[in-house]
Amino acid sequence: MITCTRRLAWDAMHRIPRHESKCAAFHGHRYTADITCVADQLDDRGRVVDFGVIKERVGTWIDTHWDHTAILMEGDPDPGVQAIAASNEAHGRPVYWTASPPTAEVIAAELARVAQELLADTGVTVVRLRVWETPNGWAEWSR
Ligand SMILES: [Zn+2]
Repeated sequence: MITCTRRLAWDAMHRIPRHESKCAAFHGHRYTADITCVADQLDDRGRVVDFGVIKERVGTWIDTHWDHTAILMEGDPDPGVQAIAASNEAHGRPVYWTASPPTAEVIAAELARVAQELLADTGVTVVRLRVWETPNGWAEWSR
């Protein structure tokens, strides 16, 4: 099997409700995602998919929804959440809401779902998606 992987990165804030220690505080990361695709066969130029297609489609979605904003859980009871949401909305950077705590695992699964939708018409399948929350820690979704 031949795969291709495109790395994309963004800056965002989150917090993990009910976390046992410092991740319960609002804090930011330089997130990095490695998006791995396969195709039934290489295209007529020898590629799974052009890296630029992943960058253009998925990178644009990330820039729009996740870069320089907050990724927070719907219903997060922290009193700061609504103020952050209102402020980011006013700055044109609405908060992105997740259904469960926005861990690297949840963010990886969400980006895998989105990337598959955005790349569907290219015929590729997203088979693995790794999200690095720090240089030393990542979560991986795989098909
Ligand atoms: Zn964190």
